[in-house]
Amino acid sequence: KAKEFGRNMYQLYDVSMNNKNYQSLILERDLRKAILNEEFIAYFQPRVDASSGKVIGAEALIRWNHPVVGLISPGEFIPLAEETGLIIPMGKWMKKRVCEQLVTWREAGLPIVPISVNISSQRFLQKNFAMDIRELLEEYNLEGKYLEIEITENSIMKNEETVTKTLRELKELGVKIFIDDFGTGYSSFNYLKTFQIDGVKIDRSFIQNISSESENASITTAMIKMAQHLKLDVIAEGVETEGELNYLLEQNCNEMQGFFFGRPCPIDEFECNFLKG
Ligand code: C2E
Ligand code: MG
Ligand code: MG
Ligand code: MG
Repeated sequence: KAKEFGRNMYQLYDVSMNNKNYQSLILERDLRKAILNEEFIAYFQPRVDASSGKVIGAEALIRWNHPVVGLISPGEFIPLAEETGLIIPMGKWMKKRVCEQLVTWREAGLPIVPISVNISSQRFLQKNFAMDIRELLEEYNLEGKYLEIEITENSIMKNEETVTKTLRELKELGVKIFIDDFGTGYSSFNYLKTFQIDGVKIDRSFIQNISSESENASITTAMIKMAQHLKLDVIAEGVETEGELNYLLEQNCNEMQGFFFGRPCPIDEFECNFLKG
């Protein structure tokens, strides 16, 4: 009986609410609440220079601490956030959180590493994105070099005029731009010469088993060479093993991120493991 009722509910919502199912309606409702109640947590993953072992940056990765379900990964709510536009206030929260963190480090006299933030293409393509970043930096009295931005190839392929202007303005602020998940987009590499970007983050699907898998090895080696010729920073994502690390070092790719060095973690853990000592 209950099951039947559930199915009817499902159908009811399915028909009347744009084919969205009941689950995603609940998720959307909860997500709206989450934004009002600030139920998000920023996790931080170190970026290292593997040749020196130094931590040279951090990537901020969002988590949702749902009051009933507990910690939820971005993969489970970012798609809906994008679809509903809630990604905009969510991103706003994250940027503020990161600026606050940088200020906290500065005030505590801790060594500051730049923090990178993932920006949805929806937000990046809005005309006021760079202005917003400028205002944020002013509000927190931060130098642009401490805030880094990760966008995907798809963000950059849409509106050439807006993208060019935004990238120029960000450059003026000293904010670095990285292409995330590099190699997985549809794009040609043409944008690498037309747009002012600072570096690429090679997607972890290429790094996996790189030492034993020859296809991944040749693709990654080619991407590293190309990026270096273009004077771009290259960061390898998803480094999990010593074999992968060594292979990358042999290819002169020193900047890395991945479970081998550290998983994304709450700020106190990050400070304890990666900032002090
Ligand atoms: P991303 O920006 O490519 O982030 C890297 C993802 O790979 C993270 O997943 C990280 O936990 C995971 N990762 C890092 N090293 C390893 C490794 O060695 N092995 C494996 N298997 N995984 C590794 P996470 O935190 O679940 O984030 C997933 C994606 O969600 C991110 O991919 C990013 O696209 C998006 N995302 C996360 N936070 C935000 C945010 O604040 N705003 C926006 N717009 N998107 C975000
Ligand atoms: Mg990223
Ligand atoms: Mg990535
Ligand atoms: Mg990504």
